[in-house]
Amino acid sequence: MMVPAEYHDGRSTRVWRVHVVREEDRLSWQGEGVSGSAPLARVNASARMVGVPFTLRLPNGAQLHIEHDDMPADWFAGRHRIETLVDWLERRSWVALASVAIMALAAFGWFEYGMPWLADRVAAHVPQSVEVAMGQQSLSLLRGRVLLPSHVAPDRQAHLQALFDRFSHNLAGLPPVRLAIYDAPSIGANAFALPDGTVVFTDAMVNALPDDPAFLAVSAHELGHQANHHVLREVMRSAGVAVMASMAFGDVTSLSGITAAIPVFLLNNHYSRAFEADADEFAFKALAQQGIDPIAFADAMHALERAHPESADEREVRYLSNHPLDEDRIARAQAASRQFRLARHPP
Ligand SMILES: [Zn+2]
Repeated sequence: MMVPAEYHDGRSTRVWRVHVVREEDRLSWQGEGVSGSAPLARVNASARMVGVPFTLRLPNGAQLHIEHDDMPADWFAGRHRIETLVDWLERRSWVALASVAIMALAAFGWFEYGMPWLADRVAAHVPQSVEVAMGQQSLSLLRGRVLLPSHVAPDRQAHLQALFDRFSHNLAGLPPVRLAIYDAPSIGANAFALPDGTVVFTDAMVNALPDDPAFLAVSAHELGHQANHHVLREVMRSAGVAVMASMAFGDVTSLSGITAAIPVFLLNNHYSRAFEADADEFAFKALAQQGIDPIAFADAMHALERAHPESADEREVRYLSNHPLDEDRIARAQAASRQFRLARHPP
């Protein structure tokens, strides 16, 4: 059986047309001006891939190229490592199943741990000036649409401003923050922190909170979200790798997408349980530090519940459904409260 092939001597670009013959364990080739032979065992064949010509590397450094369909099936059967591997894999369906499982696990791991990890790293490196710009743009997206001028009496507003300023001023590790009160009928009793340090309270929230400690407790919790860059970290988790990568390399054009996602997130989504726990922890510490019993946060949530008894998970009390007073949260507030009281009045 004579197989047509191209002979490349490996030194020049010249191509010789030859015919290749196999006799037992030897391969020989013959063409005009070129001929030779080599033991089959010393010929190195490329993998068998449909549509791709075979390359046979000869011991003398030359190559024979044989069209895929011209190559006799039995010449190098099972010789190539990839072919052997593929063949081995094809005989073992558990390997295929295991590969699928590994891929699924890898994908899960990436979304569950990889993306959040990356988002946190990127968020930690976003310059404060950029965070401020994003917060201000988010606020201007909300102002006039969702956030309208407040109807809370000016002296009450002044009182809350003074409370908030004194409270936040005494906390370490905070970027500059400020309180902003808006009437926001569409989002009911609500409060949230924007990346520029603005903590927004709605009129309905201000009116539902019974006293100063309750107001400061909600403020402290929101400042906890602020201190830990929770908005940015949460929004970036869903932003995708491309956006994060360009942000990490200082491409500011990618910011507009993130900025637009911030108000959407704040109005429609909620933080992960881990972030809520972090914000609680921050709040409990901050409150205790300034002489306020950390149980004030749980009290504030209870007061909100009482203010809207019939609509516990509707829009008017979104803040409640975003900050559910589950046993876990209450237990942590109580533990912080016990510690606070013990520190003030040692037994
Ligand atoms: Zn929260």
